[in-house]
Amino acid sequence: MSIKDDTKILQQFLKELPHDIAVKHIKTVKAIGKAENIQSTRVFRSTKQLSAVNAQLHNTLKQQSDSLGEEVIQDVKDEINTLIQTLTPKYQLGDKLQLVDGIEKIIFAEDNTHTTEKTTFQVEDGIVYLIDIWATWCGPCQNPMEHNQKMLEKNPDWQNKAKIIAISVDDDSDSVKERVNSKKWKSIEHYRFEKGWDDQNNLIKYLQLRGIPFVLLINKWGKIVYMGHPSKANLEEKINKEIAAEKEEEQTQTQEKAAENNNQQELLTKEQFKQVKDKLKELQPVLQDAKFEGIVQLQLQKENQWSHDGSKEVKKRSKLELSYDVNVAEEEKITAFLQNHWNQIPEELRVVKESKIRDPQRQVKEIKAKFQSHFESKGATISFPTTQITNLSLSQDKQEITGGDRHRFDIKCENLTLDTYKTGLDELREFTEQFEDEENEEIRETIEMIIEGLKSNVTLGEGKQFVTIDNYKKWGSDEFTSIEHTQGQVLVLDYWAKWCGPCVREIANNTDLIKQNQDKWGKAVRFVSLSLVLAEEAKEFMDTHQESQQYIEFYFPKEQRQKDATLYGVQYIPHYIIVDKFGTIRKVASVGNMKEVVNELINEEAPKKSLEQAQPVLLGQDAITQIKAILQSDETTDFIKSIDQQKVIAFDLKINSKQVGGDQYQFETVQLSYFVRDTQVEGLQTLLAKLYQIIPETSWKIDKTISKTITIKYPGAVCAVCQKDISKDAQQYYCHFKDEHVCTECAEFDDVTKTGMERYKYQDALIFINGPLSDLSVLTNIDDHKIGKNLKLKEGDKAEQSHPMMCNGCGGGAKGPRYISLNARPGRYRGGGYIDYCCKCFAELKNKDSERAKEIVAKDVADGMTIDSLFTRVLFNYGGYQAF
Ligand SMILES: [Zn+2]
Ligand SMILES: [Zn+2]
Repeated sequence: MSIKDDTKILQQFLKELPHDIAVKHIKTVKAIGKAENIQSTRVFRSTKQLSAVNAQLHNTLKQQSDSLGEEVIQDVKDEINTLIQTLTPKYQLGDKLQLVDGIEKIIFAEDNTHTTEKTTFQVEDGIVYLIDIWATWCGPCQNPMEHNQKMLEKNPDWQNKAKIIAISVDDDSDSVKERVNSKKWKSIEHYRFEKGWDDQNNLIKYLQLRGIPFVLLINKWGKIVYMGHPSKANLEEKINKEIAAEKEEEQTQTQEKAAENNNQQELLTKEQFKQVKDKLKELQPVLQDAKFEGIVQLQLQKENQWSHDGSKEVKKRSKLELSYDVNVAEEEKITAFLQNHWNQIPEELRVVKESKIRDPQRQVKEIKAKFQSHFESKGATISFPTTQITNLSLSQDKQEITGGDRHRFDIKCENLTLDTYKTGLDELREFTEQFEDEENEEIRETIEMIIEGLKSNVTLGEGKQFVTIDNYKKWGSDEFTSIEHTQGQVLVLDYWAKWCGPCVREIANNTDLIKQNQDKWGKAVRFVSLSLVLAEEAKEFMDTHQESQQYIEFYFPKEQRQKDATLYGVQYIPHYIIVDKFGTIRKVASVGNMKEVVNELINEEAPKKSLEQAQPVLLGQDAITQIKAILQSDETTDFIKSIDQQKVIAFDLKINSKQVGGDQYQFETVQLSYFVRDTQVEGLQTLLAKLYQIIPETSWKIDKTISKTITIKYPGAVCAVCQKDISKDAQQYYCHFKDEHVCTECAEFDDVTKTGMERYKYQDALIFINGPLSDLSVLTNIDDHKIGKNLKLKEGDKAEQSHPMMCNGCGGGAKGPRYISLNARPGRYRGGGYIDYCCKCFAELKNKDSERAKEIVAKDVADGMTIDSLFTRVLFNYGGYQAF
């Protein structure tokens, strides 16, 4: 399809358009760093939108475009549709206001009743109108409405010369009526859009209304002379000026002309433009070869402008435009591209439209600095100490120790009050919001980290230092003050509200408690109740609770839903915050036994040390190198491999160190968590001893789990129940708790849900030995925690199998006895649970040579299941049993 074809259709449309609207035909040709070809797009755009007066024409154009036949290809239809979109009618200054429909008039009667009447609104010539679109729920709309009423009262001479019309977007007229009555806004004429904020209403639609309050000023000739926010203009002055006007003032659209002039500058000669096109073709493969990450593109544009009479004028032949938005890693490549190619193009033929090199590290620095300086101006000091974290973990396949160093910054701050935190962040919102797009993920995370860090410095969590709470006044006082902690005094804060039953009861209880302990507690403890409701609303309560006021200080907030309550996580009330003598928050939310808690705290002699705190140690950086060397040595690897035959070791070492000058590092935490079996402890101790030589044991925080293991004797001599000789029986049972063997007949029973369980000596904890065994190692290193609890049903209780399980053999969610393999999935309880079987599959497994048994085993070979595996039997769910 050639250009001729779309311009031919365009000609038809042009004829219909008002003379002052021209149509631009914009052709854009692009070469994009990652794309293989040069891409070309064409688009039609009107030089301005249709006026709302011509709304009907827009419909006609739409119909015409819809009726374009099949001979017109889709691309052209799309172009025409874009054009029609850019013509969407909109009220412009100087437009005559059209009839407003879809509204109702609200008529107020003397007796404060009101009626509504479906109507339309049309301005009358000779009268100046101010139309105010508002709603009762819109906060910023209320002052302008008040101002409207005042203007009318102040200017009685406006009568018959100027009117103020308010049209509400409220969903019902009752709320409008109530507001107007209570505010006495009766000089204004009131209307309401029948469907509330309805985008299809002709006024809302053609104003393209996005927000309220919104006013229109209409001159005596019915034309719009002002549109916008009421407070952005001196309306009274404007109305007076319009009343006095003797002839219509020409409305000019200066902005558009300026924009047009701007474009004029980009008109290369035909010859130059040809060079630009050639350059684009030449550079396309260069861009492609460079394989830029991010956006790098070259573009050129040609604009033809078609006027109403069908004449065409070239408005733009652009220079070659370069835009890039890349990560700092691409900087070298971009520089090379600029030097070797871009700068070789004659200067008058090229222009850089966008040049963004994103450097997250630099930005992170800038962001930190921004937060620091901003909060510093508010009296708070923020610092970002860097911590080096060395992480050493056993690899997934347990073949080596892996890990490396990472740096993390912490957020420390001093003098950060709640108020500073909240207002500081509010003020920085505009700054932080600019990073909300996807490309700035790293920056966004940094900002979130900083905000979280700051928050944790003000949040009143347990163990945190108490922060002064501002903006409360004591009952009976008019002065707002702060709630502070006094050293040596226990402070009990209680968030409450007079409408909360439990809160009121607690206040009564606390009053009694303080009264009873007055001699002992005295000034050692201070009770402060922080109300969520304002003092004005609590008068009755306070009057009827005089006694409590002798023991509890009652404070009331400056505003409802004050930010301290939000920040301190007050969700349910009563909500306590208890601060110890040393200023540390010790309890948050609910307090079980107030008396006990207070007594304990007033008797404390010294600040409670956190148990988690290991002793910090100062060492050189080479300490980490040494530790790594030990862990990565062949010796260590061999040791780990040897004990990992049983797949049960876990080893995770984390060293946080902070550089404190020169080569000195302060090791803040040396955190080791490991899981080993008791049989492996010795070897591990040898390894740890080497590490302790570098960092003393007292400086480690160790989280260890040592799993107990047992070895099963096999075969047993006699059955502990029937005393028969079982030394020749391949299959038998063993009770670890009694160290006894049992024959299959005495151990196996299946009427577990029936009564008479007391007949059986062993109800739980029997281990089945599936002999004859070819691999005797199944008898050793059995994890103790996998063996049943040795429980017995209480007399009269009925056995029940309700512990959920899914059989590894048949996949059934079976009830009945459950048989857990003691050899497969050794070690800790894992996410996938144990390998266990229902009684049917267990019966199959006992028949070791059968195909089915081999099949069942084969499924879980990877998890260590073998045909020789032992099983523990779990008969019941846990609970309702006694130890045996
Ligand atoms: Zn027996
Ligand atoms: Zn099964």
